[in-house]
Amino acid sequence: QGRYLGDISNNSQTSHLPVCIPLHDPTGDVIATITGSINPDYFQELFRPAHELNPVRVELYSYAGQKLIAGRIDYQTATDAFATDLTDKKDYSKKIAPFTDNLADTVFSNYLPDSEFGTFQQPAKHTNSQPDQIITSYRSTSPLPLVVNVHLDLKRGLAAWHKELKVILTVFIALAFAIAIGGSAIALSLLRKYRMEGQIRLLSSAISSTANAVFITDNQGYIQWTNKAFEQLTGWPTATIANRTPSFLNSGQHDKAFFQHLWQRITAGNVWRGQVTNKTRDGRHVIVDQTITPILDKEGCVSNFIAVHEDVTLRTKAERQVHYLAQHDPLTGLPNRHSFSLALDNWLSGPVIISKAVLLVDLDHFKTINDTLGHQAGDDVLCQVTQRMQTILPEQAQLFRLGGDEFSILLEAIDLNDIIHAVEALLEQLIRPLEFEDSHFTLSGSIGITFGAAGQSSASVLLKQADMAMYKAKHSGRNTFSVFDENMDYMMQRHVELEQGMRDALASNRGFKLAFQPVIRASDLKPVSAEVLMRWQTDDGQWVSPGEFIPVAEDIGLILELGHWQMEQLTTQMRQWQATSLATINISLNVSPVQLARDDIAQRLLYWLNHYGIPTSRITVEITETALMGHSNKVAGNLATLRNQGVQISIDDFGTGYSSLSYISELDAQVLKIDASFVQKIGQHQKSSKVVNEEEVILATIGLARNLNMAVVAEGVETQVQLEFLQQAGVDYLQGYYFAKPMFEPELLCFIEQAAQQNTEPKSELQGS
Ligand code: C2E
Ligand code: CA
Ligand code: CA
Repeated sequence: QGRYLGDISNNSQTSHLPVCIPLHDPTGDVIATITGSINPDYFQELFRPAHELNPVRVELYSYAGQKLIAGRIDYQTATDAFATDLTDKKDYSKKIAPFTDNLADTVFSNYLPDSEFGTFQQPAKHTNSQPDQIITSYRSTSPLPLVVNVHLDLKRGLAAWHKELKVILTVFIALAFAIAIGGSAIALSLLRKYRMEGQIRLLSSAISSTANAVFITDNQGYIQWTNKAFEQLTGWPTATIANRTPSFLNSGQHDKAFFQHLWQRITAGNVWRGQVTNKTRDGRHVIVDQTITPILDKEGCVSNFIAVHEDVTLRTKAERQVHYLAQHDPLTGLPNRHSFSLALDNWLSGPVIISKAVLLVDLDHFKTINDTLGHQAGDDVLCQVTQRMQTILPEQAQLFRLGGDEFSILLEAIDLNDIIHAVEALLEQLIRPLEFEDSHFTLSGSIGITFGAAGQSSASVLLKQADMAMYKAKHSGRNTFSVFDENMDYMMQRHVELEQGMRDALASNRGFKLAFQPVIRASDLKPVSAEVLMRWQTDDGQWVSPGEFIPVAEDIGLILELGHWQMEQLTTQMRQWQATSLATINISLNVSPVQLARDDIAQRLLYWLNHYGIPTSRITVEITETALMGHSNKVAGNLATLRNQGVQISIDDFGTGYSSLSYISELDAQVLKIDASFVQKIGQHQKSSKVVNEEEVILATIGLARNLNMAVVAEGVETQVQLEFLQQAGVDYLQGYYFAKPMFEPELLCFIEQAAQQNTEPKSELQGS
């Protein structure tokens, strides 16, 4: 410790470092010594910035490695200073443990020969609550022979930095987080924006290139934009129609109200859909399914309208065609049965004041034309007839073709007579000669009329009534009309009842039975044969007369089935008679004209006779004159076959029809039956009262039969007077209640057996039986 001039007043408190430097002459001898003193505060001042902030210890060493001063500038001083300076950071200072004098002092001398200054790191001597690593910086202070060492506790020295680093890191992480969130939000919104833009692009290109015609207008209806399909559909390019209203599309097919309603809807912000017929630039009509959608702005006001059109012209035309075909008859173009029902329903809901007539027109013998001249001729005739009716009918009349040769007319008239006149005019038209290729022929019609009362009649009932009236017209000899009356209604109901009853009876093989009425030989009044007559007892025990059910069966064709049943039944019974007194009896079988014209009746009968071994000569077939009137090949064929095979033919009900004599002679029938209506008049007329009375007819008929070599049967004989007259007139056989009523098989057997026993007894007893 030496003198220090700098601070005399307080020198006792001051440590000084004496420095002594010898001066040498050129020969090396010491010629002087320079002595000095160094105030260590200088160094403290020198390193203040460092140790005020950091846990730093500054030491002064000689070159030789001797520690010269650690004194006032040791760590404790520094720490105190540090702590004083950072009073507000006490926590921080507490963590700073004081340096102990435990460092390897001379380590720097290892480096000194290489470099006058440098930094190295060394572990602390004690690890116990001591810093792990010490960083030491050294610097020689040439020309003074001193080395300044500065030690820094790495951990504590970096503590502040670590803290800052933490804050920075926290801030950085927070920042990164914020950036991440913000970034993704931006990214998302961008993505959405791009997506929307993409969608809008997609939409706009879809609308541009869609097959549907689209135009967009402003809210006043002025066109702003159209797509390609619109130009293709309407022929109008956007440029030519921009800022125009779509009224140039107006085809005139829709009324003002239509467009008013449309406009009202869309301006109220509603979508409008509907089918519209538009006009194209070249004047064609196109049918479109149109949808007009109002586009609303943010305020909810209509800013634009988008109109989308789907061309449905072809589809609609096809639909209309299908609709037309469903309602019309393709041959004549007339509305069909379906339309008729609709029109009739509609018609009946109209005003009551006028007479409304439903006419049913059926062509007579139309089938013959189809059969003989072919279907082409049939079609041709139907068209010609349609045309004729159309020209003659009053304007308000509606004509329908119900099918086949059946037409219907709805006719309105103030006066009933007008309707009758119209019907008569129709019949006149129908009977005018027709032509097909080289053939000329006439056709007639039968017309049924019924009158509808609005609100009271139903369409189906009216049609049925007209149908009944038409049948009546047919039965009254055709080429005429008939007006429905309530009695027909009863007949029709009865018709339906009988039809169902017969079908059931045939299906269950119950109810039908064969009755037999004996035929008596006039010469000896012996029964020689029997006529088969059909009997029918319904389920409720009622006997229905064949006079009633046979015509119905003929009408509906059920007579064929009934005939089959009867034939099989009869031949089976005849077979069973072989060992009885009926073994040789002859049987007359009634055959309807319908059977002759539509069935292979001859073949069928021959089959059954052959099947049961019954000789054909035991059978007589009774046919009526009506069967001969049709001139049908089938009838002629059946009759020829029967005759050729030995079956006898008898003409029934002779005198009631209008058969030509020539045809009868051609037919070569063996028997002629005089109708009961003549027989029953026997003895009831004064000779003078009629030009030709029934008795004379009978006589003439017998004469005719003789000429034609036919046997004569008189039927319906009820009295002795009739019997005597007929016997005298020379009739061969007799039939009637006077001898026997129709009876079932057991009674017939008895009757025949009794007759055989009374073989030798007087006639009168037989007559009485
Ligand atoms: P029809 O062939 O002229 O038969 C004679 C009808 O006169 C029978 O009536 C018979 O019972 C009746 N009759 C017989 N004698 C007398 C008499 O003395 N006085 C009166 N008032 N009537 C007498 P039925 O059995 O009611 O038959 C009526 C008609 O029904 C038959 O007339 C015939 O046309 C038809 N018929 C009956 N059975 C058949 C059948 O199996 N097939 C066909 N196709 N027609 C049949
Ligand atoms: Ca008969
Ligand atoms: Ca008869």
